[in-house]
Amino acid sequence: MSPSGISGPPTKTRMLWRGFTKRCPRCGSGHLFHRWFDVVDRCPRCGLHFDREPGYWTGALAINIGVTTGIFAIFFVVALALTVPDVPVAPLLAILVPLMIVVPIAYYPFSKTVWMAVDRALLQHLDPNERLDEQH
Ligand SMILES: [Zn+2]
Repeated sequence: MSPSGISGPPTKTRMLWRGFTKRCPRCGSGHLFHRWFDVVDRCPRCGLHFDREPGYWTGALAINIGVTTGIFAIFFVVALALTVPDVPVAPLLAILVPLMIVVPIAYYPFSKTVWMAVDRALLQHLDPNERLDEQH
């Protein structure tokens, strides 16, 4: 445990789990959003800088699109499998269209924290001291 109360670097699995649960990938702190769509600039506990560069959130957008597409595909395939050959197109659309509006909105903050975790756990090439975080 360091003097700041934050233990050593978390494992990749722990970072990813924290991302999936809408928490800071480095320290596990919650409260990372002012409002549903508005992420804070820095982690309130460890000071991790979230918005690292212009276009950084493109990865979160890709994750959100992927999750939404996956949910659509699962729901659609199950509905088809259960109803073929008499597929109820109108009821299916009445469910799927609102679902495709609600899912990306509901998943939005999670897509950001998952992206931060994926970025930190799997993609980043920072040194162990994470000097980039301390410079801002
Ligand atoms: Zn943190």
